[in-house]
This record gives sequence, structure tokens and C-alpha cells, in this order.
Amino acid sequence: MRSLTCIVCPIGCALSVEEGPEAALSISGNRCPRGVVYAQEEIRVPKRVVTATCGIASPALDSGPRRVPVKTQQACPRERINDLLADIYKTRVRLPVKTGEAVITDWKGSGINVVAVRSLG
Ligand code: SF4
Repeated sequence: MRSLTCIVCPIGCALSVEEGPEAALSISGNRCPRGVVYAQEEIRVPKRVVTATCGIASPALDSGPRRVPVKTQQACPRERINDLLADIYKTRVRLPVKTGEAVITDWKGSGINVVAVRSLG
């Protein structure tokens, strides 16, 4: 049996996951169906929303932030996060940029967009 904490909402249900015959999962402890979906993904294909910062393309600001905070709109498979971060850190954002504006679209055909989480410029 494996124990997980559902992170889909602030309640944070304590989930118990047992693997049955033919890799079927038995999940308990969830207060709603989203916990089942979360546990299945966490066991089979763990994903995370990624937050980071991008550099600013010239002309850079004379003062103030030197980097643009960004996050993924979709969760990224855990084993691809380092590859994604390398591309995020290489990206230079032209100002002005608005909150929610994509700085990377459909990263490597994955459907993952990286967006600014703060307006700058
Ligand atoms: S199982 Fe449902 S109620 Fe419990 S933490 Fe997950 S989303 Fe929230």
C-alpha cells in the first residue's frame, strides 16, 4: 500500500493506494472523484506544474526586476522537468509582457505552455 496526500484542493485528503491484480489501482480516503484521478496520475505518470524565471531580452530595465517569473499552464511529466527548465532558463522575454502571456508555446510538441505570471515593462 502506498500513502499519498491529494494536492488538488486545500483539504488535502490522505489517500491510500493499493495495487491489485493486473495493475488495477484501489484508491481510498478521497472525498471526491478528483482524488482518484490525482492518485492514478501520481502513480502512473507523475506530473508537476513548473515555476521558474526567464531572462529579459534587451533593452533590459535600468532598474527593477531582471527576470520574468513564469509557470507552466499544464503539469509537466516529472522526468521532463529538467529539460523544460533548461529551455526556460535559455528563453529571453521581450518587454512589455503581460500576466498570462505565453513565453513558450507548445513546448516540444507536449502541449505545455509557459506563461508570464507578472506584467513587466
Ligand atoms: S480528494 Fe477531492 S476533496 Fe480531497 S483533497 Fe483531493 S480534490 Fe480535495
